[in-house]
This record gives sequence, C-alpha cells and structure tokens, in this order.
Amino acid sequence: LVSRENHPERSTVRVAGVPIGPDTVTLIAGPCAVETPEQTLEAALMARAAGATLLRGGAYKPRTSPYAFQGLGEAGLRILADVRAETGLPIVTEVVDAHDVELVASYADMLQVGTRNAQNFTLLQAVGAAGMPVMLKRGMNATIEEWLMAAEYIAQRGNLDIVLCERGIRTFETATRNTLDVSAVPMAQRLSHLPVIVDPSHSGGRRDLVLPLTRAAIAVGADGVIIDVHPHPEQALCDGPQALIRDDLDELSRAIRAFAPLM
Ligand code: PEP
Repeated sequence: LVSRENHPERSTVRVAGVPIGPDTVTLIAGPCAVETPEQTLEAALMARAAGATLLRGGAYKPRTSPYAFQGLGEAGLRILADVRAETGLPIVTEVVDAHDVELVASYADMLQVGTRNAQNFTLLQAVGAAGMPVMLKRGMNATIEEWLMAAEYIAQRGNLDIVLCERGIRTFETATRNTLDVSAVPMAQRLSHLPVIVDPSHSGGRRDLVLPLTRAAIAVGADGVIIDVHPHPEQALCDGPQALIRDDLDELSRAIRAFAPLM
C-alpha cells in the first residue's frame, strides 16, 4: 500500500489543510515537551513567526530514564489545544500507548509515532484506525525496509495519510546523539509514495547541528523538517541542548526559503 510500485505519483498528506509533500517544504516546530501554557504559547509564536505551519509538542514523552520528565499527559494536550486556538497552528503530538490513541486523537491534528515505538505493531494498527494523519518516525535501529513495513501496518488499517520522518539512526558514532541518514530520504521517496521529512533536532541532539542538518535535509529533497524550539532552553525539562531560540529560527527559516517555498 505504501510502495511506489503501485502508486507512481508521490503523495501529499494534508494536516488540517496544511500540505506535506512534493513541491514544498513544510516547517513543523514547537517545544520538545509541553511544560506550561506560557512556554508552549511562546514557543508556538516563535515557530509561527519563522514560517512554521504546524505546531509540534509532546504531552506524552517516551524517555530513556523512568526518572526523567514523562510529560503532562492530558493536561498537556489541553494546553496544546488552547495554543492552537490562539495561534491557528494545527497540532502534531506523540502517542506512546495504543490505549491512549482515542484520547490523543481527540485533541491532535496529526498523531506522531516515535522512534522507540516505530515497531510497536499494536500501536501502529491503532493509529491506523484513528482516521487522522500519522507521522511515523524511523526506528533508530530500523532498516528502511522495516520502516516502510511499519508504515504498511498503518496503511493496512485504511489510513494512507502517513508522513515518514527520518530522525537519525544508531551507529558507532558517539559525537552526535544519532547519525542522520540523509540517504534514507531519497531512498524512501524512491521506494514509497509517502512524503518524507527530517528531524534534525533529535538526530544530532545539539543546537549547533540543527541548521547544517536542515540544509542537508532540504538539499536531498526532504518534504519538510520538524524542529524543537524553546523560549528558554536552559530551563527546558526535555532536550534543552537541541532546542532553537528565536535568532536561530530566523536563520533556519531563511536557509529553507533559499532552497524551496516554505508552506
Ligand atoms: C520527539 O519528537 O519528541 C521524539 C521523542 O523524537 P524521537 O522519537 O525521534 O526520539
């Protein structure tokens, strides 16, 4: 269902009217985690000013350590909904458990499946049945074939509104958090008709790499990027070192516009 063999035209996925697909670059930006109404609104306004048309923000955070901030849960979803009402930005947010899909879908415009759940087949089937666009991150240990098969689980439930997201894979390299596999972008676009975006924030794990990795992503033909932003990264409860501040965002948006029209 997701293969390009039977569907030669590349697809565009619309998230509350915002297109993600060929001929454009979609900027999705927002906080890694929803922390407070003020922080989320401020991050959303920064994102919108830079040209973002979709707001990211995690209310359910899949953290490596059980002692790390796990997200605000439904209270975070309510904050996102309030910020959407205030800014007009549709929401992309992660769901980590099949039992929560209905709840998260009642607030979200696009469901995100993260790298750690990229082969959680029960969750993939549940988001496939939710009747809403899905962003599927590549598993950090998944081959491109395994990533596309994960997408197939969603598609099999009748949902072809899937956006693939390359977010770095685990390699022997430790200088960066993960290794952005730029070749996966054109490769996945060749094998599948689905749009492919890149997450330069989570792949590098460092603020100073977000701009160069974004340039790389756009240069290889990514259909969009998803970026962490925070008004005060030093106070962030999650992944502060990779969050962009206002000035970085302006530069990022100029860099994207130099390559392609920003949607
Ligand atoms: C995220 O985007 O918030 C996230 C946790 O990303 P990943 O699943 O790619 O680590």
